[in-house]
Amino acid sequence: MKILIANDDGFQAPGIVALHDALKALPDVEVEVVAPEHNNSAKSNALTLHSPLYVHQAANGFRYVNGTPADCVHIALTGLLGYRPDLVVSGINNGANMGDDTIYSGTVGAAMEGYLFGIPAIAFSQTEKGWKHLDVAAAKAAELVQQLLPSLPEAQRRQEPWLLNVNIPCLPLAQIKGFKVTRLGRRHAAEPVIRQESPRGETMFWIGGAGPARDDVDGTDFHAALQGFATITPLQVDLTDHDRLPYWAPTAASLSGGGA
Ligand code: MN
Repeated sequence: MKILIANDDGFQAPGIVALHDALKALPDVEVEVVAPEHNNSAKSNALTLHSPLYVHQAANGFRYVNGTPADCVHIALTGLLGYRPDLVVSGINNGANMGDDTIYSGTVGAAMEGYLFGIPAIAFSQTEKGWKHLDVAAAKAAELVQQLLPSLPEAQRRQEPWLLNVNIPCLPLAQIKGFKVTRLGRRHAAEPVIRQESPRGETMFWIGGAGPARDDVDGTDFHAALQGFATITPLQVDLTDHDRLPYWAPTAASLSGGGA
């Protein structure tokens, strides 16, 4: 089994090193890392189209790219690797990617890039920043991957890839209750923008932090993670609001040329 590993925190982040080491230790598994040179958190699925990308290799074998998480997976799958991996994993991210975080997350973006190429993919995050109990998160990630390994070739042969978003609580191993399948919750709108004066007297703006959870009822990722579960949320990519197709049909019909 061949696993491509990417992340959004950069190739030197402790999270990707821990994930690499944990997956490399699985039997019959080969791993390869292609990850951003610098922190690319919140870059979502962005691709770099207007500047060249360079790939370098670190002493530990990790390859790093002056681009986004999705760039890394994209170029890996379209020529850099020279083979098709069985699985794409991303992370382990420094902080939660729950609810609408998944729209912005570069960790999810890297995994989604693999999914869009028809390859099963998993995005791993720890629910708090700071890498506490990272060894536990890496062990839980490896446990899930090992469980899924036998199903991977069939998923690709049937052209039925899947995309999982996994959040692991920052807890000692004994306090993690296990895995729970959840839906995404929702956060409040983000905190206000932060305004500062630069040393040269100009006004600078910093994007505010993500808001607290708003929809965190039973069944959501927020709820389960707070209870001490590692959460598994299967994601889909189709953003169509299928329920609202009939609602918008009269608008289209009433516009010029409508109903033709
Ligand atoms: Mn990140």
